[in-house]
Amino acid sequence: MNILIIKASAESDFKDYKKYMSSPPQGIFSLAAAMPNAHSFEIIDETNGDKLSKKQIEWAQLAILTASTPDITHAYQLAQKLKESSLMVVLSGLHVTFLPSEAAYYADSVIIGEAEPVWQTLLADADKGLLKPSYKSNEQVDMGNLNPWPNTADLKERYGTWGVLVGRGCKNSCSYCTVRPFFKREVFRPVSHVIDEIRASGKKYLELHADNLCSDPDYAFELFTELKKLKVQWVGEATLDFAENEALVEAAAQSGLTYLLVGLETCSHPALKMAGKGFIKPARAKELIRRLHDNDIVVDSCMLFGFDEHEKDIFDETIAFVDDVKLDVIHPNFITPFPGTKFYNQLLREERLLSNDWADYDCSHVVFQPKHMTPQELENGVIKVRDTLYSTGRRLKRFARVTSMQGLYVSSMTT
Ligand code: SF4
Repeated sequence: MNILIIKASAESDFKDYKKYMSSPPQGIFSLAAAMPNAHSFEIIDETNGDKLSKKQIEWAQLAILTASTPDITHAYQLAQKLKESSLMVVLSGLHVTFLPSEAAYYADSVIIGEAEPVWQTLLADADKGLLKPSYKSNEQVDMGNLNPWPNTADLKERYGTWGVLVGRGCKNSCSYCTVRPFFKREVFRPVSHVIDEIRASGKKYLELHADNLCSDPDYAFELFTELKKLKVQWVGEATLDFAENEALVEAAAQSGLTYLLVGLETCSHPALKMAGKGFIKPARAKELIRRLHDNDIVVDSCMLFGFDEHEKDIFDETIAFVDDVKLDVIHPNFITPFPGTKFYNQLLREERLLSNDWADYDCSHVVFQPKHMTPQELENGVIKVRDTLYSTGRRLKRFARVTSMQGLYVSSMTT
């Protein structure tokens, strides 16, 4: 069979931002890597600017599409178009896993959960024309056996920053996060596999992809020790509390960590506590960020607004907090109830969802009734935070700080 593997991405004001922020989508690449030799495939990553051509549609017999929630309506439209062209169509990914009945309307088959464990069975069924309406994986992928990249496709040159899969899942269970409901537990690849892959890639600037890279300090120490020998620079994602471990911060810096996404989310500890993220203590942020800065690590975080614990003064509090703790890169956004999360289920129960249009679920629209303010007040507050934190004076300050740590290239790309 000829197969199209598609990461769907809708046209939007944030298309360039998504392209800039996105790293190679390991989900679709590991599917391609698990493809039996009898099949041919093409990868279309719309996030990265790829366009599906008429020739590709005529060439293929089966298409599998994945998309995040704000892109899912576009994915459904694409799925319908492909079905009309007589392709077998499969939908997969987080949104599809959490709302399989909705997705099933647009596809011949849906995958619930991780796709790799059911992929070969699905392809064998499709080959015989016996595709089932759904496939569900009951076990998590064995990271020791996972091959994250297809050998046949020269993908590395298509992405600015090469991503290396380190782990999937998170041991925490924050109410607004889709990671835990999707990946039932946290698993990491063997360190030797990660190191071999980096060495083979020849890349010197990488994103190490794990939902919470430092949550197992023993694993993280082993990884950083081996990484140091490769003399690479890398960016990653870990909760800020990892910086309580001074030796681990130093090991991370020596292994090439230059830029860290920490997921502080809000300066309100009551809000973090209610969201199941009380282990992050805003009162410790200043000291921990200073420790990261002392090791020349640039610190990036979303600051989310609209938690039930947020009163109208949260906007001014956040501006003062960000200035005080010296965050380098800030993304002020609305907390968004993604399907599958406890937060979504709570708002659904309380009849507080305001939008049925998945395209609005992009963290830039208010899609639910906030508890202590109107949607308009929430929107105005976030605009005020953005305008204030991105004033010329504050940007220049952050620019100077990031330049002193990582040079002009990183500061011009980030601040
Ligand atoms: S710590 Fe981060 S990745 Fe883990 S559940 Fe919370 S928000 Fe999600």
